[in-house]
Amino acid sequence: MRAAVLRAYNDDLAIETRPEPHAEPDGVVLRVLACGVCRSDWHGWTGEHPRVKPGQVPGHEYCGEVVEAGPLARWHVGDRVVAPFILACGHCPACASGNQHVCPDQRLPGFVEPGAFAEYLAVPFAHNLARLPERMTPAAAAALGCRATTAWHALTGRADLKAGEWLAIHGTGGVGLSAMLIGKALGARVVVVDIVPEKLSHALGLGADAAVDARHCDAAAAIRDITGGGAHVSLEALGIAQTTNASIECLRPLGRHVQVGMPVGHTARMEINMNAVYMKNLALFGTRGMPSWRYPSLLALIEHGDVDFAPLIAREVALADASRELRAFGGPTPPGVAVITDFAH
Ligand SMILES: [Zn+2]
Ligand SMILES: [Zn+2]
Repeated sequence: MRAAVLRAYNDDLAIETRPEPHAEPDGVVLRVLACGVCRSDWHGWTGEHPRVKPGQVPGHEYCGEVVEAGPLARWHVGDRVVAPFILACGHCPACASGNQHVCPDQRLPGFVEPGAFAEYLAVPFAHNLARLPERMTPAAAAALGCRATTAWHALTGRADLKAGEWLAIHGTGGVGLSAMLIGKALGARVVVVDIVPEKLSHALGLGADAAVDARHCDAAAAIRDITGGGAHVSLEALGIAQTTNASIECLRPLGRHVQVGMPVGHTARMEINMNAVYMKNLALFGTRGMPSWRYPSLLALIEHGDVDFAPLIAREVALADASRELRAFGGPTPPGVAVITDFAH
């Protein structure tokens, strides 16, 4: 099969021929129909992701068709499925309490084992998979990737966003845009922040109530102004100090900050305005991924038309284009997400 392999950080992925994988007893093998390209892949490609080493096949945002099922997997050949990027064991205390996203025995295709920048993918712990809704295309499902699932859990499982509240979003890449769409569907008012005017107008066109261009102002002050005293919930989607502090400083007293952006490499430790946390009695939430049992709730929201993630997909590309898409994360990115749908080229 064809697979794109990281051989050297910051270098083009090598398109190689590899043996097809086999299913583990509780796993499946998927023919990959679509796989999103994500900033997390970029972190791995640059060498900043702590777990991604040369030899890795990236790709953790996949939708595929089952071509082989292990004897303990409940899926059948021909089933079309989508996965959360964290595959949980299913029987530890974290899993038993419904918190599969913090399972200590989690498996991570695309980060520590072969991912879906390939024609076929072995998925262990197949009980984490969810059935692809009839009317959803594989590209749309893959574009949900880690971004819509992470945003869904960040807002509803962590920060408990309520209708009528103001939600501020710092960074309107894939996860920020997903959070904006979900926030609107939940009845919140949403203000987005970015430094790329095209992304701000894109977000406004998709329903954001206000937009702040952080190149020209103090973003936190602008948000406090727009929201009449500060946002109730603020989501940071980049993982850097400047936006994390803007997120904390834009909140009203008793506000909730959610750390969605992944701080890695030189941003792993940052200087934070803890005085604002103290004085305003803020709550800080970390969040990573989504427990797999919450997938049907998100898919139902989409199926019933409450939220439309179609605008997330900016372009469908071939496997050979993955390197160009990764490289693009190094600068200001255009709106939307790239999804690999052609694995033969
Ligand atoms: Zn577990
Ligand atoms: Zn991702």
